[in-house]
Amino acid sequence: MNAPWQERYRPLVDRFGRVHTNLRIAVTDRCNIRCFYCMPADDVVFRPREEILSFEEIVRFVRVVAALGVNKLRLTGGEPLVRQGLPQLVRMLVEVPGIEEVALTTNGVLLAGLAHELKQAGLTRLNISLDALDRETFRRITRRDVYDRVLEGIRAARAAGFQRIRINAVAIRGITEQQVVPFGRFAREEGYEVRFIEYMPLDAENHWERRRVLPGEEIRRILEAEFGPLEPAPRPDPSQPAVDYVFADGRGRIGFINPVSEPFCHECNRLRLTAEGQVRNCLFSLQEWDARALLRGGGSDEQLAALVYECIQGKKPGHGIDDPNFLRPQRAMYQIGG
Ligand code: SAM
Ligand code: SF4
Repeated sequence: MNAPWQERYRPLVDRFGRVHTNLRIAVTDRCNIRCFYCMPADDVVFRPREEILSFEEIVRFVRVVAALGVNKLRLTGGEPLVRQGLPQLVRMLVEVPGIEEVALTTNGVLLAGLAHELKQAGLTRLNISLDALDRETFRRITRRDVYDRVLEGIRAARAAGFQRIRINAVAIRGITEQQVVPFGRFAREEGYEVRFIEYMPLDAENHWERRRVLPGEEIRRILEAEFGPLEPAPRPDPSQPAVDYVFADGRGRIGFINPVSEPFCHECNRLRLTAEGQVRNCLFSLQEWDARALLRGGGSDEQLAALVYECIQGKKPGHGIDDPNFLRPQRAMYQIGG
C-alpha cells in the first residue's frame, strides 16, 4: 500500500505540467582531467569527503523519488569512476523498486579497468565523453594526455557487452569544426552514436561567450556536405534532450543536444542531486534544496518527498541564457553534475 505522502506528491509535476521521472546523481566533484569548459586548470578546491553523500544516503534518496515516479537514473559528476566502489552503488540502485534504468556518463579514463564490473553490476547505458579524435586537440581541451586511455576504455566497454554506446562531444567554435568529419566517419565505421553538445556557460573560469558556441545546425551541414543527407531518427522519448539523425544510406547515427540554439526546457523531465546532497531543478538553477540536512538530521521520507516536490514547484520555464538579465550559477559543471 502506498504511504499517504506518496499520494500527495506523486507524480512530480511542476507548474508547467512537466512530469519529472529522471534523476541525475553526481557521485563526486573530483575529476582526473581538467576540461577547460568545465573545470579550472589549477588549484581546484574539492569538497571534503565527509560532505559527500554516502552510497546509503544516495540510495535512500532514490527510494523516495522512485516512490514519486522517478524511473531513470544517470550517474555523473565530476568523474564518477574516481569514486571508489562505484559498481557497488550501481548494484544497490538497480535493486530499488521502480528504477528501470541506471546509466553512467564518464570521461572513460578509468573505464578499461571497470567496464566489465559495471556491466555485471547491472548498468544499462554508457555515455563516454570524447571531444576530439586526435591526441593533440584532446590534450588541449582536457589539459591531460590520456587520449589513448579513453579509446581503450571505449573498446573495453564494447567488449564488456554494452550496446549502443554514445560518444558525447562538446561543440566549441574554433575547435570542433575540424573534428566533425572525423566524428562522422567514426560513427559510420565504428558504429558508435556520436552526440554533439553545444558549449554552455558553466565553465569554472567564466570564459564562455556566445560566439564560442558551435550550433548543432552548422555541424549538421558539415556532415551532410561530406556524407550525404541526415534523416531524423524515430523519437520514442520526447523528453530526451538529443535530436537524433541517421545518414540516409543507413550507416551512422548522430545526435545533437542544442541547449543554446534550440532550448528544450519545455520538455525537461530532469532533477539533479549534487555530490553533497543538494537537489536542483535545472543545471542553471540559482537555488538548491538541502536533502543532506534531512538525510543526516533524522528527516522522514515524507519530509524528503516534500522537499523534492517544493524544488520541482520552483522550476522556471526555461534556462534564460538569452535573457538580458541572465545570471549563471555560481557553481561550474563539475560541481553540479552534468
Ligand atoms: N566526467 C564525466 C564526463 O565528462 O563525461 C561526467 C561529468 S561531465 C560534467 C558530463 C558532461 O557534461 C560531459 O559530456 C561534458 O563534456 C559535459 N560538459 C561539461 N561542461 C560543459 C559545458 N560547459 N557545456 C556543455 N557540456 C559540458
Ligand atoms: Fe572532468 Fe567531465 Fe568536467 Fe571533463 S567534463 S573536467 S571529464 S567532470
